[in-house]
Amino acid sequence: MTFSPANHPSSSPQTHNQARSQARRENPEVSCFAFVLSLRAALHDEHHSAGDLSSVRVWREEDASWTAPSPPPVRKVRASQPQNNAEMPRFSARWVVLLVLILLVGAFFYCEYLIYFPTILKCAWPKISHARGGGEGIDGRPLDSTSVRAMVLSDTHLLGAVGGHWFDKLRREWQMERAFQTALWLLKPEIVFILGDIFDEGKWSSQKHWEDDVRRFHRMFRHSAETELVVLVGNHDIGFHYEMDWFKLQRFEKVFNASSTRIVTKKGVNFLLVNSVALHGDGCPICQSVEKELIKLSRDLNCSLQNSGSCEGSQTYPPTPPIMLQHYPLFRVSDAGCTGRDAAPPEERHLLFREKYDVLSKEASQRLLQWFKPRLILSGHTHSGCEVLHDNKYPEISVPSFSWRNRNNPSFILASVSPGSFAMSKCFLPEESTVIGVYCSAGGCLLLLLLAHCVWMKGLLQCLSLLGKHKSL
Ligand SMILES: [Zn+2]
Ligand SMILES: [Zn+2]
Repeated sequence: MTFSPANHPSSSPQTHNQARSQARRENPEVSCFAFVLSLRAALHDEHHSAGDLSSVRVWREEDASWTAPSPPPVRKVRASQPQNNAEMPRFSARWVVLLVLILLVGAFFYCEYLIYFPTILKCAWPKISHARGGGEGIDGRPLDSTSVRAMVLSDTHLLGAVGGHWFDKLRREWQMERAFQTALWLLKPEIVFILGDIFDEGKWSSQKHWEDDVRRFHRMFRHSAETELVVLVGNHDIGFHYEMDWFKLQRFEKVFNASSTRIVTKKGVNFLLVNSVALHGDGCPICQSVEKELIKLSRDLNCSLQNSGSCEGSQTYPPTPPIMLQHYPLFRVSDAGCTGRDAAPPEERHLLFREKYDVLSKEASQRLLQWFKPRLILSGHTHSGCEVLHDNKYPEISVPSFSWRNRNNPSFILASVSPGSFAMSKCFLPEESTVIGVYCSAGGCLLLLLLAHCVWMKGLLQCLSLLGKHKSL
């Protein structure tokens, strides 16, 4: 289709131009063709541009005749910038690439780095003055000023060389590192406890793989001198009772430079660490050693509490019952009584626990309660949250796993503990499903953007094919 007086012999030039604009607005093919003309002008050199104009004629008033117009001054236009902007949408490749990059980098930066900040910022140290025990410490000072800020997490399960896929390892360790470092930076705990199962394959890893796991652990859980990191032993670190041996236990204790059973005292608070893997009660050498150590610690603590003169030669501790920390929970039948968003799934809550495998035996649990009369027990191993009250006076908190490999919503405990009281809150980390949702949304936007780009490209191709048809006519 070409606009020329031959097609409209009775029209004047002005009415002809109006008709052409009208036709362009009303007829998309006309519009499309105009766009193609502009693209052709951009793509062709000066010679071709002048050649195209030879078919267009101008009405001259003075001699009332049609003449060929003089060629316009040459104007170089880039092919990616069509002239009639008002009529065609613009999705240039440069903008598409820029938007794609912003989308991808933004989603990645948010999901892998930024997301931990708003989530952990919602967490705060609990006010001990509102907790059981009143508002003053045993020395009359306000409890908040004498309390210890203790962060408690469990079951990090750093994957080993045998069972762990490299991507799983990379992702989980990055998540835990970012969560831990962000929590340290925002919450500034004075002491951090990790309740065992630090490594997934400590029970069978070779010396070389063990050293690699330890190196990664120290990198992930690096901390300043103001924060003390205390690590407990779990069945994945040295094996279950039947797998455990002196070599694995001493290897673990050497890395963390401390005995697996001991008391850590901070601001007058006694934290009792128990190697619960060695509480089988079958007289195995490690079990005997651990029980002997526990009996000594119990005697020292009771002497300190009673301030008895018959305790000469025993180690003295602040006169307060301990907070007991261990990997295995004390004996309970199942998780049926557990509630909360991080409790075990309903289908698993009624499964009966096996003594010495899922929980400590009844005998070992009773012995620990009688020996130490702890005011609080914190344990791991089940990977789910739970609160239990033993004998109607000994509260126990099961701390869920800190790894997204084990949970969609990992968490840790924030505990403010003074010699006479304590308060706790739970800090949830970002949910894995949220992160996946953000990535899926970004992927959806990306697809829409590419689709819009392709639709525009398709329109362009259609126009080019139309031009081809007109040429053949
Ligand atoms: Zn575990
Ligand atoms: Zn375990």
